[in-house]
Amino acid sequence: MPGLNDPLMIVTDLDGSLLDHHTYDWEPARTWLERLSERKIPVVICSSKTAAEILPLQRQLGLSGAPYIAENGAIVQWSGSHEAALLPRSKSYSDICQTLQKLRERYRFKFTGFADVSEKEVAEWTGLTPHDAALAKMREGSESLIWRDTAEQFIAFEQALSAEQLSLVQGGRFWSVMNQGAGKGAALAFLLQHFRHPLGHRWVTIGLGDGPNDAPMLDEVDFAVIIKGYSKTPVTLQRADTQHFFRSARFGPEGWSEGLTHFIHQD
Ligand SMILES: [Mg+2]
Repeated sequence: MPGLNDPLMIVTDLDGSLLDHHTYDWEPARTWLERLSERKIPVVICSSKTAAEILPLQRQLGLSGAPYIAENGAIVQWSGSHEAALLPRSKSYSDICQTLQKLRERYRFKFTGFADVSEKEVAEWTGLTPHDAALAKMREGSESLIWRDTAEQFIAFEQALSAEQLSLVQGGRFWSVMNQGAGKGAALAFLLQHFRHPLGHRWVTIGLGDGPNDAPMLDEVDFAVIIKGYSKTPVTLQRADTQHFFRSARFGPEGWSEGLTHFIHQD
C-alpha cells in the first residue's frame, strides 16, 4: 500500500465521485483534500465537464494549478496556463457538431445536443444554475447529447460515428461524442507522458470514479476506486489485480474518502 510520502497522484471523476451526484456537495472529502494539499500531492480532475466548468471548481476545491482532464478526455491540460490542449489529429468542437448535423440529416437520427439548445434547457437537464449551464456549453472537443431514438437507430448511430473517426462514451447523464481514442484512459496516459514528477519519480496513481466512462481511466491507474454509483450500467474493469481495486460501500464524496483511506497508508 502506498503512503503519503510516496510520489502520489490522485486522478478523480467529479459528478458522483468527488461531488455528490444530486447536490454537488463535497464536504465529506474536505479532510482528505486538505491532507493531500499539505503534502503537495496533485489531485487531477478527470471529468466530462468542460475546462470552463473545471477551473472555478479547482479554485473552490483548492486544486488550482493542478493538471486536469476535461470533456471525458477530449481535453488534457497540464502546463498551469489556462490554454486547454487538444490531443493531436482530433476534430474540433465545431467539426464534431457539423458531422452530427450531417448524420442527423442523412439518417434521421433523433437526439438533442448541447449545441441544439439554450443554456436554460441545459440548466433544466442538469440542475445547474443558468450561469454554470453556460460554462457547460463552452465545449472544445466533444458534444454531449440526449438520445431520443430507438435501440436499432442507436446501433446505426454508433456505426456512422465510427466511420467518421468519432466515438460515443456514456457519462453520468449524457452521451458524449468525441474523437476516437480520446477517452479518459488515453487522456491520462497522455498526461503521464508529459507531466513529470518534480524529482523525476514515477507517479503512483490512484484513480476514483463511479461511471462506465471512468473504466478506461481506472484501468490505467496503479490503484482504482470504483465509487458506488447510480448508473444502470455497471463499471467493469479489464484489470484482474483485485488487490489493486476497491469498490466503496458509500456513494459520492463519502465513498471517495473511503477509497483513499483504504489505499493510502497513514503514519
Ligand atoms: Mg461520475
